[in-house]
Amino acid sequence: MRVSIDANVCIGAGQCALTSPDVFTQDDDGFGTVVPGREDGTGTLVREAARACPVQAITLHDLSDEPRG
Ligand code: SF4
Repeated sequence: MRVSIDANVCIGAGQCALTSPDVFTQDDDGFGTVVPGREDGTGTLVREAARACPVQAITLHDLSDEPRG
């Protein structure tokens, strides 16, 4: 899995960091960022955090869905 946050969409609500602090944190301005090294989505409640974001700024890419070869 790959996790990304669309910084143009994020409103800094902080729900992601509250829900899944393993994977999400907030920058100095309060906007959501992925914890360095956790871009692969390793952690708990990642999907729940994505659902909790009020503006759907979080995208989870399932690598198994991507074309191979
Ligand atoms: S929950 Fe969504 S809007 Fe809030 S900080 Fe996280 S990505 Fe940004």
